[in-house]
Amino acid sequence: MTSPGKKRNSEILKNANLRQTHPRLAVLDALMEADIPITRQQIAEHLSDSAPDKVTIYRVLECLIKKGIVHKAFMKERTAFFEMAHNCSKTQCHPHFTCTSCRKTVCIKNAKMPLAEINEQGFAIKHQKVELEGLCPECNS
Ligand SMILES: [Zn+2]
Ligand SMILES: [Zn+2]
Repeated sequence: MTSPGKKRNSEILKNANLRQTHPRLAVLDALMEADIPITRQQIAEHLSDSAPDKVTIYRVLECLIKKGIVHKAFMKERTAFFEMAHNCSKTQCHPHFTCTSCRKTVCIKNAKMPLAEINEQGFAIKHQKVELEGLCPECNS
């Protein structure tokens, strides 16, 4: 049985010239299903029984990041959170908003951010990643 999501994941790998291995498909499946940035630990938990070991998950993530399929969204208490890169453009990732009250971090997918301008010689911006802080709607009400 193949769900539309699974079919899409195998196409993602095909387009990136990556072999369709079970660990790669499983990690993509976990990230797709979560739809929010998740940690390596959460990926492993999502995969439960069929979970490839931690080293394999690490290697798969490194590979998918190199191909631009997955992004390291942000770090929190020294833990990296990963997400699919399809909501990001070539020049920038969508911003992530962390609530200073409840510490929740969410993706802001519809924000339009102008690319930063540096008024000093010699810098060339290739990619912009913005982190925002403030109060989430719950804490703000
Ligand atoms: Zn909050
Ligand atoms: Zn995000």
